[in-house]
Amino acid sequence: MVRDHGFHPVRIKRIVQETADTRTYVLDAPFPYRAGQFLTVRACGALRSYSMSSSPDTDSELMTTVKRVPGGLVSNWMHDHLSPGDLIETTSPAGVFCLREGTAPLLALCGGSGVTPILSLVKTALATTGRRVRVLAANRDAGSVIFGDTLSELAERHAGRFEIRHHLDDRQGLVTAPEIREFVAGDLDADFYLCGPAPFMTLAEDTLLGQGVGAGQLVAERFTVPEPTVAAEAVAETGAGTVTVVLAGKRRTVDQHPRESLLESARRAGLMPPFSCEMGNCGTCIARLTEGEAKMRVNNALDDDEVAEGWVLTCQSEPVTPHVTVEYES
Ligand SMILES: Cc1cc2nc3c(=O)[nH]c(=O)nc-3n(C[C@H](O)[C@H](O)[C@H](O)COP(=O)(O)OP(=O)(O)OC[C@H]3O[C@@H](n4cnc5c(N)ncnc54)[C@H](O)[C@@H]3O)c2cc1C
Repeated sequence: MVRDHGFHPVRIKRIVQETADTRTYVLDAPFPYRAGQFLTVRACGALRSYSMSSSPDTDSELMTTVKRVPGGLVSNWMHDHLSPGDLIETTSPAGVFCLREGTAPLLALCGGSGVTPILSLVKTALATTGRRVRVLAANRDAGSVIFGDTLSELAERHAGRFEIRHHLDDRQGLVTAPEIREFVAGDLDADFYLCGPAPFMTLAEDTLLGQGVGAGQLVAERFTVPEPTVAAEAVAETGAGTVTVVLAGKRRTVDQHPRESLLESARRAGLMPPFSCEMGNCGTCIARLTEGEAKMRVNNALDDDEVAEGWVLTCQSEPVTPHVTVEYES
């Protein structure tokens, strides 16, 4: 598998102020990408991923949209320090929050900056398919609505095929399960795209599954990384196991430690495997499992085929069998 893990200097062509705390960065970036994917930006000694709000099918320029996070390092630095003409360092686009094949309607539930990849997906779905598309977008208040005009224009242009519904917390309170049930009623056969704050995602997932929607119909993009939870019990059940790591001609075996990722095990084994974001986004740390099984806490980089072939993001993978062997590409 050949992946481009490098960082590229990319010039900012324009900056569009979307709301008081959200800006779109129009980038001079000749990257091919798929609707719903993201770039990982390196700034302030940190790595943060930002989704494209543009669509490769309808926009000639690549755009990514960043909302300030109170107290956040990179989002505030981008807002406060970047101007048109400046260079930023990014990876090439990655991610699997992409349009699936099929004819089922596409329903999106998003909150806050979660509308960013949703806009990209909506534009591509409307331009390249005949599918019906409906979006429920939650925001704190009218001033926080991102892409309000763009979404209204799309609704006018694709009347009868595209519906945008805005939910405003200051008028309606937080989104509730009955509201989601009402919105999705009649479209339970849809593909559901979810992107928003963690509690919003949990509510949306639980409500949809409770309505009989299959887990395979849900496609979710998480902007925050959940706490490690996966395999501690599995390791406890299986007893002391081992992790064997093969890298650049070296083969080392260490005991399994509960909640330790394969990347951490490899480091403990004295090896220096490749890594970058350590959030399950950039794909730099990929390796192939050749023995045993591991479960990824987050996977925003590998598609289903790659997972089926045994590729894992080692920064996110915890063993779930007593013995695992993982081999990095040399
Ligand atoms: C796949 C993916 C796509 C994404 N796409 C987008 C997008 O399109 N648009 C977008 O705006 N965002 C997006 N994000 C989120 C983005 O990557 C960042 O997580 C977000 O901008 C916050 O980063 P930050 O550096 O500003 O904040 P951070 O510095 O990471 O801080 C985040 C939060 O933690 C708190 N915090 C920081 N340090 C401490 C501390 N020491 N103690 C307690 N609390 C602390 C901060 O106050 C803040 O609330 C995406 C994330 C992922 C994973």
